[in-house]
Amino acid sequence: MPKEFRIYNTLSNQAEAIVPLQKDHLTFYSCGPTVYSYAHIGNFRSFITADLILRTATALGWDVTYATNVTDVGHLTEDDLTDPSGEDRMVKALKSKEGEQFVNIWDLARHYTETLVEDWHRLNLREPTVRPRATEHMREQIAAVEQLIEKGHAYETEKGVYFSVTSFPEYGKLSGNTLEMDLEQTVRDVVVDDDKRDPRDFALWKKDDKHLMQWHSPWGWGFPGWHIECSVMAMSYLGDRIDIHAGGEDLIFPHHECEIAQSECLTGQPFATVWAHTRFLQVEGEKMSKRLGNFFTVRDLSAPEAEGGKGIDPLAVRMTLLSGHYRKPFNFTIKTLKGNVKHRERLQEVIDLVGHPSEGVGEYEGDVGAILSGMYERAFDAMLDDLNTPAALAQLFGGTKMILGRGAGLDETARAAARRWLADMNGLLGVVYYDDQPQETEEEDPLAAQVEPLLEARAAARAAGDWGRADEIRDELTALGVEIKDSKDGTTWKRKQQI
Ligand SMILES: [Zn+2]
Repeated sequence: MPKEFRIYNTLSNQAEAIVPLQKDHLTFYSCGPTVYSYAHIGNFRSFITADLILRTATALGWDVTYATNVTDVGHLTEDDLTDPSGEDRMVKALKSKEGEQFVNIWDLARHYTETLVEDWHRLNLREPTVRPRATEHMREQIAAVEQLIEKGHAYETEKGVYFSVTSFPEYGKLSGNTLEMDLEQTVRDVVVDDDKRDPRDFALWKKDDKHLMQWHSPWGWGFPGWHIECSVMAMSYLGDRIDIHAGGEDLIFPHHECEIAQSECLTGQPFATVWAHTRFLQVEGEKMSKRLGNFFTVRDLSAPEAEGGKGIDPLAVRMTLLSGHYRKPFNFTIKTLKGNVKHRERLQEVIDLVGHPSEGVGEYEGDVGAILSGMYERAFDAMLDDLNTPAALAQLFGGTKMILGRGAGLDETARAAARRWLADMNGLLGVVYYDDQPQETEEEDPLAAQVEPLLEARAAARAAGDWGRADEIRDELTALGVEIKDSKDGTTWKRKQQI
């Protein structure tokens, strides 16, 4: 029997087997970030869920068309409950202290989009099929708003164009928020406009000839609402109906509810079959906030120290984020991160022992191969069962322990099977870098230029029996934040990870 890929569907409140509309071809949209600052680990927890859907579907042999957007206009601060003003997040960022480094708002958008992609690669997320930007799809958005007006689902006022919530009786079917709910709870993203027919109606287009990003439309100069951007970009690249739409749980309402209303009124068809949502991330049991000092961007943790980061292996950060199931609230702690730094180091020891999977993989042969094959199958089944990453990681750690336990006793058949296992596990979880992906290399590391001559001097001192000098050099290396390890094949070094 073919394997089933089950994902919890927020729309039906149950886990469902995914049946792509086109056989063995998944169409998939995941809401990307608003590029007004560096993406934080909570953002990336949601992007990693999307990456895992992509990887699991690919491991099943499906083709995947995967679109994840960049929101670079129209996302208002009012969507954040802690900030009641209705300013565009991009504009607000430009006016802030950090914003002074940018020549204009387009420069700011470019910078945070580029750094998003850098962090994306650091955490070993696969590239989407397409990464569309809201500002590059303005004609389609204007056309969609015109059509919604023609069909009687939208209307114009002096301040903008609004979607009429009462024109879509199914509004509320995703979030459970019904039309009876009051204004405070249901509408957070709209400018105050007394001419709205219903306070719950949300903006499709905002008229504003002073806005730093504005376009000409049938309603004058202005910019689109955040929700219409995603509807339009999803349908442009994936078609009127899509298999999975994903995002953080904070997007269920109003963002995804509004997307459904717009898209289904435009096409008369169901928009996405499955809606998958990632739960919130906390740090040390508290909401992540700059004020509490527990706010981590990906680069705070994993950029090299020379670039202001903590220099933690990004794959250890990724493994930490994988250690909690996406549908449970996740508590990110330094203790868990330290534990995963160790796990990642042990995984590297496996690679050092059996070789990198890019060097060629074998089959699951021999007794080691049989054990590893079973571990991979269990990990795959765990991922097919609503992305059960803790169970899949347990198989990764179990295999790591088994391989390191056998150590030098592994023959070439077993090593080749282990490389196959590494490649397969990486296909699911993304815990190994491949050469064709961007990564930090030792050659670019300024520390290496200091360390290598010291290691040579130490080796010379040891060869001459000058143990005092050798110990002095070891102390110098420790002072540089370097750990060394002597073995019969010589001395290796690594940067001591400071958490
Ligand atoms: Zn979106």
